[in-house]
Amino acid sequence: MGWDFETDAEFQAELDWVENFVREEIEPLDFIVKSPYDINDPIRAEVIPPLQRQVQERGLWACHLGPDLGGLGYGQVKLALMNEILGRARSAPTVFGCQAPDTGNSEILAHYGTPGQKEKFLDPLLRNEIVSCYSMTEVQGGADPKVFTTSAVQDGDEWVINGEKWFSSNARYASFLIAMVVTDPDNSPLQRFSMFLVPSDTPGLEIVRNVGLGYESESEDEGSHAYVRYDNVRVPAENLLGERGGGFVVAQTRLGGGRIHHAMRTSGRVQRLFDMMCERAISRTTQGELLSRKQMVQEMIADSWIEMEMFRLLVLRTAWRIDKYQDYKKVRRDISAVKAAMPGVYRNVASRALQIHGSLGASWEMPFATEVIESFHMGLADGPTEVHKVQVARRVLDDYVPCDDLFPSAHLPKRRAAAEAKYADVLERHLETQ
Ligand SMILES: Cc1cc2nc3c(=O)[nH]c(=O)nc-3n(C[C@H](O)[C@H](O)[C@H](O)COP(=O)(O)OP(=O)(O)OC[C@H]3O[C@@H](n4cnc5c(N)ncnc54)[C@H](O)[C@@H]3O)c2cc1C
Repeated sequence: MGWDFETDAEFQAELDWVENFVREEIEPLDFIVKSPYDINDPIRAEVIPPLQRQVQERGLWACHLGPDLGGLGYGQVKLALMNEILGRARSAPTVFGCQAPDTGNSEILAHYGTPGQKEKFLDPLLRNEIVSCYSMTEVQGGADPKVFTTSAVQDGDEWVINGEKWFSSNARYASFLIAMVVTDPDNSPLQRFSMFLVPSDTPGLEIVRNVGLGYESESEDEGSHAYVRYDNVRVPAENLLGERGGGFVVAQTRLGGGRIHHAMRTSGRVQRLFDMMCERAISRTTQGELLSRKQMVQEMIADSWIEMEMFRLLVLRTAWRIDKYQDYKKVRRDISAVKAAMPGVYRNVASRALQIHGSLGASWEMPFATEVIESFHMGLADGPTEVHKVQVARRVLDDYVPCDDLFPSAHLPKRRAAAEAKYADVLERHLETQ
């Protein structure tokens, strides 16, 4: 029997250490560090690197990486259990060396980068000495790469990039951007794009504005999703990442791991919201009794627990299947299912937690409004939910064969006739004796 829902004692000890460290050392950082990606912020520079060293000494730095890149090569199940805890604090992934989008970007650099590119871009990225940006979405449409127009044209030993990108997260802090641009417009969409490494100090690269999410303050310029203009941006030919025309394949490599890591951290965030909801329900009274005594509040708690646990099990099973098959193609249905389920569970639990906290819950003195918007973030970044549902349906339907009869194979008269034919002798004997 191979079924087991327990963590072994040795790894549980590591998880206990991580949990305590996140609670005591990292959660408070979210109140004093504006962005864990802003390497130049002096407060961040003082508080984050010493914590990163503690993680390194404990041997838990960048656990998603294989030993060839200095990681432990943890499988996805262990990563899932660890990322759940890291999801509790915004700065935790950075302290543990596994923050998006740098993880996905390092994944493609490790996979497709030349030795020179790895030395220049990957090594400092893995040490978190620099941060990176992934620049793919365009204003006229993100879910459909066929409408992307930002292009690169070869000019001697250089490529010249022109166009605009939208929601290039962390471009303002990044040392380089990975831009997916059209190099071969006459090819089929899958072979039209190439990836380029664009250092952020390259002339012609301009941030039009830094767009924020709904809970951020426009006046404080807190946005970190850049609207980027590439105006005759010249990069050397050696900055082509992967093959010319192979940008789409590179993009797919990037998103496989990233999507599941987001889900793991979301599982932890949802658990934290659930904890808040439960604490309030057993602390606050109305009409002389605790909120937890009201059946509709009980329903909110029960529904949240059920959705949360179902999601958690789906994430863990997907992680287990990734480890088992070692082939993302075989688990694309599962990864898309996790990605599609994630925003709904997150949004439901965040909304219920807000509701149970009443006016306080709707205020900026509790984190729920932020969390509700963040749930939409999870349903948009790395592809909208609808697109993932289409993937799930397609892959599920691949396992079925059509019925060539006018009536479906489950048609009861047909099944009854088949059963009667199979047991004709039995039926005949019994009919004779009746
Ligand atoms: C917080 C955040 C961070 C992001 N970071 C990055 C980043 O770092 N780099 C980057 O390149 N991009 C980033 N994105 C962009 C993200 O990839 C896009 O938002 C996403 O691909 C959707 O594109 P769009 O926003 O242009 O929406 P559109 O393409 O206009 O789609 C709008 C809506 O239409 C519906 N829809 C779309 N396609 C289908 C379909 N096939 N079937 C049914 N309905 C559909 C969905 O409801 C979808 O939300 C980020 C987005 C967010 C919210």
